[in-house]
Amino acid sequence: MTSTLAAALAGDGKRTAPPIGEDILAHIGCTPLVRLNRIPQSLGVKATVYVKCEFFNAGGSVKDRIAKRMVLEAEKSGRIKPGDTLIEPTSGNTGIGLALVGAVRGYRTIITLPEKMSAEKVAVLRALGAEIVRTPTEAAWDAPESHIGVAKRLQQEIPNSHILDQYCNVDNPLAHEYGTAEEIWEQTGGKVDMLVAGAGTGGTVTGIARGLRKHHPGIKIIAADPHGSVLALPEDLNKSTEGYKVEGIGYDFIPDVLDRELIDKWYKTGDKESFAFARRLIKEEGLLVGGSSGSAMAAAMQEAKGLKEGDVVVVVLPDSIRSYLSKFADDDWMVNNDFMTADELEKPDASKS
Ligand code: PMP
Repeated sequence: MTSTLAAALAGDGKRTAPPIGEDILAHIGCTPLVRLNRIPQSLGVKATVYVKCEFFNAGGSVKDRIAKRMVLEAEKSGRIKPGDTLIEPTSGNTGIGLALVGAVRGYRTIITLPEKMSAEKVAVLRALGAEIVRTPTEAAWDAPESHIGVAKRLQQEIPNSHILDQYCNVDNPLAHEYGTAEEIWEQTGGKVDMLVAGAGTGGTVTGIARGLRKHHPGIKIIAADPHGSVLALPEDLNKSTEGYKVEGIGYDFIPDVLDRELIDKWYKTGDKESFAFARRLIKEEGLLVGGSSGSAMAAAMQEAKGLKEGDVVVVVLPDSIRSYLSKFADDDWMVNNDFMTADELEKPDASKS
């Protein structure tokens, strides 16, 4: 038996099963940290690269953490009570998190969602009992027809309704400062030199940066922002005005919860490299991730080339392939959108070149 196989089998025997949860919200947070064994090595990266597998959260994404914290803290302060209506503008995952927490704790949820977001996310939202309003993807954030504008209008019309507002709510970054960051510190045994995450609202990268810097002020924080978004610094990185197909990261305004000054370096990422890396994470590492995980990996692999053996990198993988079965996970979709050629499909390793 190989030593790796023996260790894996012995490890299985020693694992303790989690205790019975009072409800499924007990399974938000405490996600696995897993070492990458192929992709960094194939690119000549000497550092050890771990990935934080947020698709293990109960609702399937990193955003379950903020949904749970925003609802429970709002209940604690008396702002909301079961039976009320929660309205949220989202790219889908916060909506799924809120609909799940809403199902468990007794809230009606209405989600305003740009047309761009996948049919799979809509199906999950519907299954959780959420009501969905689709809005034009191209609407500027401050236009009345945008997902944010429509949510505000509905909130004025519906009694006992609330927008917890992930873009401004301090419990968004706090969920990561007190949750995700502490888990990473504990799981790495206090040895982490660089953290890489994509930015949408920016809550993930801001909260993790604050949390990890309490332990290690010198940690390097790297963020990924798609071409066509305006979140990166310096500003001249944000020249492109193209649309992009990766879901969940990038915006046309700077959310209040994003503290751009905490980020040491921004990488602008393209759809093609993001989907190529997401497909490699799935195929070569067995990690069933979504497209923005590929964006974070693209940034991480560039920056990690400057690190040495023994350095430790953690990359946040925000969500799951589940939401993209008809998109980047589908070969025909990749070819039809010019992200791959039919020829490359025959050669699974083409994305390495
Ligand atoms: N990836 C995906 C798939 C997401 O849904 C989100 C949330 N919009 C992010 C990354 C970015 O997370 P955050 O909003 O915390 O920056």
